[in-house]
Amino acid sequence: AGFTVAIVGRPNVGKSTLFNRLIEQRKAIVDDISGVTRDRQYGLAEWNGKTFNVIDTGGFVPNSEDVFEKEIRKQVVIAMQEANLILFMCDVTTGITDLDAAMADLLRRSDKPVITVINKVDNAQRQLDANEFYSLGLDPLHFLSSISGSGTGELLDDVTAHI
Ligand code: GDP
Ligand code: MG
Repeated sequence: AGFTVAIVGRPNVGKSTLFNRLIEQRKAIVDDISGVTRDRQYGLAEWNGKTFNVIDTGGFVPNSEDVFEKEIRKQVVIAMQEANLILFMCDVTTGITDLDAAMADLLRRSDKPVITVINKVDNAQRQLDANEFYSLGLDPLHFLSSISGSGTGELLDDVTAHI
C-alpha cells in the first residue's frame, strides 16, 4: 500500500544513482526471491513528512537490440501498472536516443502522471544542452544531477505534490 513511484529509462541514464539518493539511509527492501531474476529494487523515500515507495527498474537488461527494446517496453508497462507516478529518466550526455523517443511515445499514453527527469545536468553547459529534451513534448521536465543532488529538492516537491 501507499504511494509508489517507479523510475524508468534506458540503462546507464542514472536511475539507480537517483534511487539510492532518494532512499538514503532508509534501507532498500531488496526483492530477494531466490531463483527469480532481480530486475527491480524497492525502497522507501521520505520528503517533507510524506513517505512513498520507490521502484528502481531495469537491473538486468539483455544486450541484443531486439530483446533490449522489448525488455524496456515491459519495464514501462509494469511501472505503469504498479506505480502511481512514473519518473522517466533521460541522459543529457547522450541527447535524445531512439529508445528515449520510443519510451516517450509509450509514456505519453500513460494514465498515470509522468515526470520527466533529464539527468547528468552537472554544469551550465549541460543545462543548455538539456533544453533539447523539451522536444519530447513531455511536461513537466526536471533537470537533475543525481550525483551531486542538484535539482532533487524541486523534483521531490513535484513528486510529493501528487501524494
Ligand atoms: P542506471 O543504469 O540507469 O541505473 O544508471 P546508474 O545509476 O547505474 O548510473 C550509470 C552511470 O552514470 C554511473 O557511472 C553513474 O555514476 C553515472 N551517473 C549517474 N548520475 C549521474 C549524474 O548526475 N552525473 C554524472 N556525470 N554521472 C552520473
Ligand atoms: Mg540501475
